[in-house]
Amino acid sequence: MSRLIFWIVLAFVVLFAIRLVGSAQAKKRRDRNAAGNLGGPTVRCANCGVFLPRADAVKARDGYRCREPGCLPKG
Ligand SMILES: [Zn+2]
Repeated sequence: MSRLIFWIVLAFVVLFAIRLVGSAQAKKRRDRNAAGNLGGPTVRCANCGVFLPRADAVKARDGYRCREPGCLPKG
């Protein structure tokens, strides 16, 4: 009888360990995704002052510009 209880307890411990490892991996994945979604540094448009991701900005002589028609660098 005590042997049966031992196996039941062992099964619970194993299931708990599997769940623990699975949730740790899921959290790691979530953290990586969150860091990726932040999209890196933000820059300020030198003309109108709006903040935008550097990937969306246009490099100009005086810094970065947003893509508004009045802000795009000429030439
Ligand atoms: Zn601008």
